[in-house]
Amino acid sequence: MSILLFAEGNTYAAEVRGSYLVKFESGITFDRAVEILEGSGLSFKRSIREISVYVTEAADPVAFERFGSKLLLSRSEVVYIEPNFEWKAIEAESGLLLSPNDSLFSQQDGLIRTAAERAWNTVTGSRSVIVATTDSGISASHPDLINQLWINSSETPGNGIDDDGNGYVDDLNGWDFVTQDNDPSDLNRHGTHVSGIIGAQGNNGLGISGMNWNVSLLTARFLDAQGSGTTDAGADAIIYAATNGARLINASWGGGPASNVLRDAITFAYQRGALFIAAAGNDSRNNDSTPSYPASYDLPGVISVASSAANGSLSSFSNFGRTSVHLAAPGTDILSTLLGGQYGRLSGTSMAAPMISGAGALILSQAPGLTALELRNAILNAVDARSD
Ligand code: CA
Repeated sequence: MSILLFAEGNTYAAEVRGSYLVKFESGITFDRAVEILEGSGLSFKRSIREISVYVTEAADPVAFERFGSKLLLSRSEVVYIEPNFEWKAIEAESGLLLSPNDSLFSQQDGLIRTAAERAWNTVTGSRSVIVATTDSGISASHPDLINQLWINSSETPGNGIDDDGNGYVDDLNGWDFVTQDNDPSDLNRHGTHVSGIIGAQGNNGLGISGMNWNVSLLTARFLDAQGSGTTDAGADAIIYAATNGARLINASWGGGPASNVLRDAITFAYQRGALFIAAAGNDSRNNDSTPSYPASYDLPGVISVASSAANGSLSSFSNFGRTSVHLAAPGTDILSTLLGGQYGRLSGTSMAAPMISGAGALILSQAPGLTALELRNAILNAVDARSD
């Protein structure tokens, strides 16, 4: 059993007051689980069935943390319980807004530094490779993104029916886990910027090129207009992405504790062939001594990405870590897509992670048969890893 909750002087991101995530042994019946929850002062809200996690609510959080939680943890059917947390988009600073024009590409030093141009001589990506963003959504009408959206071909849009039986009605391009609907529009900007780094359409005489000139961007929105999202919605987004064919799941967010729920969701995704590419964090600190989740999970499915500046050194804001951070990619002043058809520069490990997600997609477009482990090794071997 593992316990993560109720630390005194908790310095982590805000808890969602009264919301708790409870994992049961997988064999338990629904009725029995609800009975146990209610006996401990929790009401059932919904379940994340793929990982046997129940989302619950305590009418009296203080009483639950003092008494009910101990009762619950004493049950052999309960594997763990944790508070539901708020996670944040990882963005350090913002730059100038730009209008689209053909000359923008010369400003894409970040992409050039990753030798994308060299790679593009032989490979420019493929619509058959699905990359998911678990982020604030996407500006789907952006002219450099509109042709790059993942299309759920098993779904007939707008008929009010879950045609493919994946649990989501009319999910043509992804899903919004904030408002639980099929429109993952970006109300922040972060997810749109991340999406453009992975796959703004290339060679279309417009704006910029992402790492992939062609790719399928699956949007699993779980960060709201302020760039915040809960653990349970994040887990849903990861599971949805993997279940619907994403081979790379970009996570340009963090700021929470070592959530078991997220660990289980990432493991679920890896078992279905998806790698989880996570931003190392923007706290200028060593993740080896102070972990930054989800990047710091020591799991085979996770690649933790630091940010480098134009001169190749670590970006001043970037976290690092000899053992817990795997590589660095450009993340300072990165030009990409923004809302309203615009472009602009943002900095952060949030911008570095999608460079690696994009690089992974390029590899897959050439070698789609790679397992997740083989893809991981290919990514780590293809990039100049930092030694410090
Ligand atoms: Ca569906």
